[in-house]
Amino acid sequence: MSLPDLRLPSPLVELHDERAQRRGVELYLKRDDLIHPELRGNKWRKLQHNITAAKEQGFKRLLTFGGAFSNHVSATAAAGSHFGFETIGVIRGEEHLPLNDTLAQAGGHGMTLTYLDRQTYRNKTDPVVLQRLHEELGDFYLVPEGGSNALALKGCAELPAEITIPFNVICCAVGTGGTLAGIAHGLQQGQRALGFAALKGGDFLNSDVDQLQHDAFGSTSGNWLIETEFHFGGFAKRKPELADFIADFQARHGIQLDWVYVAKMLYGVFTLIDRGRFAPGTRVVAVITG
Ligand SMILES: *Cc1c(COP(=O)(O)O)cnc(C)c1O
Repeated sequence: MSLPDLRLPSPLVELHDERAQRRGVELYLKRDDLIHPELRGNKWRKLQHNITAAKEQGFKRLLTFGGAFSNHVSATAAAGSHFGFETIGVIRGEEHLPLNDTLAQAGGHGMTLTYLDRQTYRNKTDPVVLQRLHEELGDFYLVPEGGSNALALKGCAELPAEITIPFNVICCAVGTGGTLAGIAHGLQQGQRALGFAALKGGDFLNSDVDQLQHDAFGSTSGNWLIETEFHFGGFAKRKPELADFIADFQARHGIQLDWVYVAKMLYGVFTLIDRGRFAPGTRVVAVITG
């Protein structure tokens, strides 16, 4: 099952950047941001097999959870409208009108938005809360917050095989860790995955990624690491250095980076390259997840 206009495999492009070249590192970008204008990057990879499963199981409706700025919620809305599902987005906190762009986009795809107070939201996977949602909203296929379930990991695990040149390290941003967990599982012997946490205090992500891999594949792959120092103050927080980095990258390469995830990851990649973390001759692929 696919959309006619999905760009898959996503393009792999070599990045000519003196900051890598002077350390002898070959840097490539895996442009998942170009997969589709609305079903971008890792959000499509994570949803794809869930949509197939929902169709096979006869569901008419997808329900998912997220904060008011969740790319996952708007991607679910877009996917639902493309594939003929009703969609429900359960949003953390109160409704704020006018809707921000993310939620407005979701609404534009016909998503029904409903809100849970923060306390209830915290318990959203509790059977009692789910039962109440079922009673209020009818039957639905549940996609978890951030979209990271076993089928999502399966979709992300397909990414490395799209890369037809040899490489040593693959880098991606980490929110829930589902993308990293899937990609790491899909690597060949000797290749390693490096995740960059977009949020502060990301050490807990190590056990989350272990758990996600365990649930999806029955074992952990042990070939990945998470860098936790490049959060710039926390999730969706930014600092002037990050804005400068984004502007400079745009000037050098003509690519506008997503600042919540991708810019933090690439800032981290260039910092590690500069610190000599990668031996000369290392080929690094950075995934532009959205
Ligand atoms: C959602 C998102 C991520 C985080 O993915 P996880 O699987 O939750 O770790 C990374 N990059 C972009 C651009 C995203 O939108």
